[in-house]
Amino acid sequence: MTAPHPRIVPQPGVMGIAPYVGGEAGAPGANRAIKLSANENPFGPSPAAVEAYRAAAGDLALYPDGGATELRRAIAAVHGLEAERIVCGAGSDEIISLLCQTYAGPGDEVVHSRHGFLMYAISARAAGATPVAAPEHDLSADVDAMLAACTERTRLVFLANPNNPTGTLIAGAEVARLAAGIPERALLVLDSAYAEYVDEPGYDPGAALVAAHDNVVMTRTFSKIHGLAALRLGWAYAPGHVVDALNRVRGPFNVSAPALAAGAAAVADGEHVARSAAANAAWRGWLAARLARAGVPCTASHGNFLLARFGEEGPASAPEADAWLKTRGLIVRRMEGYGLPGWLRISIGDEAACRAVAEAVDGFRAARA
Ligand SMILES: *Cc1c(COP(=O)(O)O)cnc(C)c1O
Repeated sequence: MTAPHPRIVPQPGVMGIAPYVGGEAGAPGANRAIKLSANENPFGPSPAAVEAYRAAAGDLALYPDGGATELRRAIAAVHGLEAERIVCGAGSDEIISLLCQTYAGPGDEVVHSRHGFLMYAISARAAGATPVAAPEHDLSADVDAMLAACTERTRLVFLANPNNPTGTLIAGAEVARLAAGIPERALLVLDSAYAEYVDEPGYDPGAALVAAHDNVVMTRTFSKIHGLAALRLGWAYAPGHVVDALNRVRGPFNVSAPALAAGAAAVADGEHVARSAAANAAWRGWLAARLARAGVPCTASHGNFLLARFGEEGPASAPEADAWLKTRGLIVRRMEGYGLPGWLRISIGDEAACRAVAEAVDGFRAARA
């Protein structure tokens, strides 16, 4: 830790931020690590997206289209949305940050569920606002608790559905009840980063609620099923007044030209999305069953990862399992930062990765029984 400077002092809230720690990428000693710590697509991006990215190399001297016109048009066409209601960002992380900067400041509150995505509290603090964690029920967002956490100071309510890191999904009727129940002055942000992985009849990532309310926003990302995490690309679907405000706060060229080009190609490749979702569903089910058989239960995940319970203490605990997996070249995510020290989050890789995890966990459980 660096000592605080005597005169040059960050805005209130900034030094209260616990810096976000991303998933580790490598394991010392293991010559070929498999990274299962950041929910990336093991199949990578659509080949069409890679081609578009390469083609963009010819025009790097030129500023990108600050309005992201082509990309918004492509997203709108694929998802059946209005292009005028879309705002693009450098990852949905930037959209989350812009929403906090735009709508919350000192004295304001930002509500999220207890084990919600960490960037909500980080971005709230960065804006000087106060994050408020609502209790969950069985590691699932609890709408009554979130509504009870709202006050006249609430400006934003964040809900990831499915949630990262718990993987849990709440029913559409519950999301609608949340949208209808939050204070008039608050904006509900539905973070649908894992929408493409959801296989539940009637699931709506949020566009219908955005259309029905003037205070609901949906966020999406190209980092997960589209396999473009390195490019940093995400978007929001929002009421016109929110679009107008975000467009004033965001940088005029916040999304790079290669990201715009690759994103437009990626969103149009429905086959790549469908193939990735199908493989994920199959191997997620397979791995969850194998872990359960080994005595390691998981939450019901609707994303491209499992949240697996090893326990907090003893020879078979989550930290011990993490170390065991690491020496076998399997990098997963510790959950202390989320207040879940007895759990590990394991991204669903390809078949070889899932089989390697199952075998390593079997070996671990046998050795530590
Ligand atoms: C991964 C993730 C994001 C961030 O995605 P980027 O677009 O890469 O910034 C947002 N929300 C949730 C819930 C996520 O898991």
